[in-house]
Amino acid sequence: PEDGKLLTGALSFKEELVEGAMTPLDAVFSLPEETILDEDTMGRILKSGHTRIPVTSEGKAVAILYAKDLVGVGFERNLALKSVLDAFDAYKRVYNVYEKTSLGDCFALCKRERRHLLVVVEKISKSLCGIVTTEDILEEILQDEIVGD
Ligand code: ADP
Repeated sequence: PEDGKLLTGALSFKEELVEGAMTPLDAVFSLPEETILDEDTMGRILKSGHTRIPVTSEGKAVAILYAKDLVGVGFERNLALKSVLDAFDAYKRVYNVYEKTSLGDCFALCKRERRHLLVVVEKISKSLCGIVTTEDILEEILQDEIVGD
């Protein structure tokens, strides 16, 4: 982007809110905690193309599956997703923010906890309402869409 735009983005992103940068729930690829890693599910995970996948239970994100945790798992064994989550401590990867949290606070949290994905939750019910990643924050700084391949 042109320098002026970049400068504006860099100066203003901290005050912007998660709600303007997040990927909303209806566009999030997530899996229920009780999922069985069968051929169909493994295919859907691959097809989603995402690195990090929120895992839900009763509308809340309880863990984050990393696609790389599935290397070597295979679908023939029909493993329970939960066994993979336990083996990789995936329950510790969940960090919540709210729709009204500022991107400055999100960025600080990402850096402090060394996380690329934060879970956006509804303030009262704590139910999942979206996700925000460092790429979403970067787009607000650049004021441009980053289009992946
Ligand atoms: P990835 O490369 O795994 O998609 P990035 O952090 O590069 O992850 O994010 C790229 C975009 O995809 C962002 O807009 C982010 O919100 C979105 N995204 C990341 N993970 C998911 C997911 N599991 N479901 C839907 N969108 C996602």
